[in-house]
Amino acid sequence: MASITFLGATGTVTGSKYCLHHADSRILIDCGLFQGLKELRLRNWADMGSLARELDAIVLTHAHIDHTGYLPRLVRQGFNKPVFCTEATRDLLEIMLLDSAHLQEEDAKYANKKGFSKHRPALPLYTIEDAQKAISLLRGLPYGQEFEAAAGIRAHFLDAGHILGSAFVSAEWQEGSETRSILFSGDLGRPDRPILKNPAKVKDADYLLIESTYGDRLHPEGDPKTEIKRIILETVQRRGVIVIPAFAVGRTQELLYRLRELEDEKAIPVMPVYVDSPMAIKATTVYEKHPQVYDREATRLSEKGIEVMQTTQTIFTPGVEESKRINEQDQPCIIISASGMLTGGRILHHLARRLPQKKNSIVFVGYQAEGTRGRALQEGKREIKIHGMQVRSAAHIETISDFSAHADYREILNWLGNFEKAPRRTFIVHGEPQASENLEKNIKEGLGWETYIPQYKEEIQL
Ligand SMILES: [Zn+2]
Repeated sequence: MASITFLGATGTVTGSKYCLHHADSRILIDCGLFQGLKELRLRNWADMGSLARELDAIVLTHAHIDHTGYLPRLVRQGFNKPVFCTEATRDLLEIMLLDSAHLQEEDAKYANKKGFSKHRPALPLYTIEDAQKAISLLRGLPYGQEFEAAAGIRAHFLDAGHILGSAFVSAEWQEGSETRSILFSGDLGRPDRPILKNPAKVKDADYLLIESTYGDRLHPEGDPKTEIKRIILETVQRRGVIVIPAFAVGRTQELLYRLRELEDEKAIPVMPVYVDSPMAIKATTVYEKHPQVYDREATRLSEKGIEVMQTTQTIFTPGVEESKRINEQDQPCIIISASGMLTGGRILHHLARRLPQKKNSIVFVGYQAEGTRGRALQEGKREIKIHGMQVRSAAHIETISDFSAHADYREILNWLGNFEKAPRRTFIVHGEPQASENLEKNIKEGLGWETYIPQYKEEIQL
């Protein structure tokens, strides 16, 4: 007998954690941090009890913190078994877990300074030391290589096309003389994206967990490359600067790839492209280290010696001084910096400098959550607060909405269409309730499959 317990990503897109239990073996698929609403974030502080010591292993689908960021916290609770992931995920996590721990320590320091924590002194969720221990447990494996995750549970990774190293996890066990299998979608990517391969086609699984982030949405038609080209040409004509707030892992690399393509096609003039985020710079290095997972086009180019994520004048500015010097740049140029929603980071300095000038463009390429500066600008606010100062918004505000790394519901259904027969049961996870319900309706109507939307902490026999 096997069972699965849903310990996160139920009714929300964060906190992914699923415990697969078979005979005496227990593995956790994903180990994500809850993010967003306070009610969810509080769950990060509740310990997992004996599970931290009972787990035989963890298997990760990809590096995003909402799938991995709880790992150091679990290590703090005594977990010290192997953590399996793809090789690229391992390399990305080396930088992302340390960054996450750094942020946790900063938050605790800030709470102590302001005195708003119930706990005195306020403690971080985990420390850099915890993150280092977690990193030492990572075991990087290539796609397709079978491994024994725990006694009686074999697993392997398949390409999910979401970010570098992202994977579906397929796990199998014996039930008497029969083999049973389960597939965890992690985050399902989209076909025809730059750098990454298309999501692998899966033909069968006895049980399936499918994500539903965009279960009730369709991405707009149109080509993001055409949009970015138009914005660049218009801004250059005004002799302005293009500022792009972008997530450091995934989005920045995709942007660099597209800008390089546009330059190669002579569709835009050659100009300096600044990558001004230490995290984005490190993540780009990891992307460059793994050409074995690129798609055909990126492979073809990199075999010719072309650096696919570098334009003619890409300038990486890890240091603070070189970052500040970008302020002096008065010729048309492109500045890519984080955070993607303008909630913090170096992008705020660029915004304070460039936002008041009409000739410049601020270009959003990712989702802007409610309450962020990014959303305020998108909604046409004429003034926003940066570092305690009111800054006037006069620049052109642009949004390119088709850069998403998640499949929309039509793309999810297309991918499910690769299955040759219906899974015994399909669990819909990783979505706001409305999104999960809409995807469920579409799967039932379109494919006639048996589906289920699990609740938080629900255990189900397989
Ligand atoms: Zn993700």
